[in-house]
Amino acid sequence: MQGSQEVNEWIDGFLFVANKSILDFLNTKPVLEEGPTELLSDVRALERWLIASDMVTSPKAKAAVRGWRQSPKAAAFLDRLITFRERLREAVVRIENGSLPADAFLAEVNSLLLQHPRHTSLHKRDRKVIRETLFELRKPTDIWAPIIDATADLLTEAEWSRIRKCESCVVHFLDTSKKGSRRWCSMNICGNKLKVAAYQRRKRATMPPRTTLPDFTNL
Ligand SMILES: [Zn+2]
Repeated sequence: MQGSQEVNEWIDGFLFVANKSILDFLNTKPVLEEGPTELLSDVRALERWLIASDMVTSPKAKAAVRGWRQSPKAAAFLDRLITFRERLREAVVRIENGSLPADAFLAEVNSLLLQHPRHTSLHKRDRKVIRETLFELRKPTDIWAPIIDATADLLTEAEWSRIRKCESCVVHFLDTSKKGSRRWCSMNICGNKLKVAAYQRRKRATMPPRTTLPDFTNL
């Protein structure tokens, strides 16, 4: 087990603080010190994110993804995926503001659900029958299946009042805290920064007015 939450927040250069993989997917464009940063900058980065997010786990699937590094089809898929990510962001922001996602976005999700259904199959295990999701990666567009399934899950299963944006940055998350009072993407990233700022504000407010400012007017 990892010692602290902070250890798990960044995996291979990607942020995982959202409690939902599809929101972590949105957070592949965070604002870092150098400004808004596209972390899915190329197919190689997508490969790393798919593995870091546990979307791609089997050796066979990893090998398939590695085979796409020079693939124009994979590059074209990534372009579409990023466009979709920004429309998903718009839908999530609407939800956070108490609105429904746009009809055009739901139509796009429906079309992708039809084109890329998640396949399942039944197996016997421990004297029970279990249902397992099949995720066969043969071509880049097969990645739509888990992405669109997770999108549909977010829109229909997640408690919308718990979908939130960090008070201090662009990162979205699902608040799974008991009290439902989570405000920041992470204590390490924004929480501490805001706490320090609040502390400094308080300190300034309680400090006596400065009376010893040098007076240069008579020089
Ligand atoms: Zn933040």
